Amino acid sequence: MDLSFTPEQEAFRKQVRSWIKTNMPKRERDAPPMEFGNPERMRAMKDWQRTLYAAGYVAMGWPQEYGGRGADVVQQTIVSEELLLARAPGLIGMMGIQMVGPTLIQFGTEDQRQRYLPKILTAEEIWCQGYSEPGSGSDLASLKTRAELVGDEFIVNGQKVWTSNAQFADWMFCLVRTDPAAPKHRGISYLLIDMQSPGITVRPLIQMTGDAGFNEVFFEDVRVPRRNLVGELNQGWLVANATLAHERNMLGSTTRTQQIFNGLIRLAQTRQRHGRAASADPVIRQRLADLMIRVEAMKYHAFRQLTDSIKKRPPGIGASVNKLVSTELNHDIAAVALEIMGSYGTLARSSRHVIDRGVWPIEFMFTLGLVIGGGTSQIQKNIISERGLGMPRGA
Ligand SMILES: Cc1cc2nc3c(=O)[nH]c(=O)nc-3n(C[C@H](O)[C@H](O)[C@H](O)COP(=O)(O)OP(=O)(O)OC[C@H]3O[C@@H](n4cnc5c(N)ncnc54)[C@H](O)[C@@H]3O)c2cc1C
Repeated sequence: MDLSFTPEQEAFRKQVRSWIKTNMPKRERDAPPMEFGNPERMRAMKDWQRTLYAAGYVAMGWPQEYGGRGADVVQQTIVSEELLLARAPGLIGMMGIQMVGPTLIQFGTEDQRQRYLPKILTAEEIWCQGYSEPGSGSDLASLKTRAELVGDEFIVNGQKVWTSNAQFADWMFCLVRTDPAAPKHRGISYLLIDMQSPGITVRPLIQMTGDAGFNEVFFEDVRVPRRNLVGELNQGWLVANATLAHERNMLGSTTRTQQIFNGLIRLAQTRQRHGRAASADPVIRQRLADLMIRVEAMKYHAFRQLTDSIKKRPPGIGASVNKLVSTELNHDIAAVALEIMGSYGTLARSSRHVIDRGVWPIEFMFTLGLVIGGGTSQIQKNIISERGLGMPRGA
């Protein structure tokens, strides 16, 4: 593994750093954590993605004909690292850029790519993921939402749940059952559904953070043109899994974990504990050292994946390792932040005594959700043990 950058890569890093310094809106740097559905914030987030895209820094790895730069993974890593260092906000169109976009490049028709990819990049169209259903989460292939092909249209009936961002999404990539008689993995198809279609009802669900980050989505005789089918009819499981692998990598971002950890270090240096900076307290130092070792181990795992990718080796179970390790680590980092803050850690965002704009309690609750979303830790462990270590399947 070569951990150094070439002079060209270092020059590229300088260029990215200087661009971010000039272009990142000041107010974004310290914006509050989530605020789902706040129209002004939505607009600001879309503007930020557009600006970043215009500079060539969004979806850099995509082929040029679909709006990417055909950039190599090292360049993409450099951009991610620099955005992290600048504490830049995330991208509002992440599910489009990281999940359905790459899936369309792999499995979509040329018409689908031309129609959807440009608007994913510019945040003109926001996407949500319609996989989970009541009773079908970890056992996703048991899903029941039915799509019947009548002429040139699918008629969709059923319900999705935990659908993040559905309340403001323009499109959903959705798994539906098209052949109820086939074995469960072989009767599923992958559809692109316009969220404005008649027959769709979205009901926000309030999470423990107090935000409605996800939703229930009901379908009643929703008509979806056949041209919105991705991949072959009844072969949606294959397409769905490609999207899932992209999702695990998105949720398992090393740069995001480092960003949270850097925030914890700042907190520990500025908060007092027993009359001195929390970072000087031996118990807290021990916790910080333990977390730092895990963050560093995760970073080197990411370098190993990067090397695999450069050498065009198959990715294996790396995405599951990433997802498992980073989501649990993010939650543990937030837990130490709450320990440092003591009773201040229980304050609601609206309190005037709140520390760090109320980020930490939200982070603690939100990161617990990410241990579950995108496939729980137990499911990732099953994948790692069965597909990675060759262990036998449990009963
Ligand atoms: C914040 C958040 C956002 C989400 N966003 C979306 C979204 O946008 N779109 C979407 O489609 N879904 C979304 N989800 C749903 C998510 O994918 C599911 O919650 C997840 O797959 C688990 O399914 P479940 O909730 O039905 O739990 P269950 O599958 O019922 O699992 C319950 C418990 O049993 C364990 N378990 C189940 N099966 C096994 C097994 N075989 N071996 C060992 N343990 C097992 C699980 O690990 C878990 O602890 C989101 C969830 C969260 C929390």
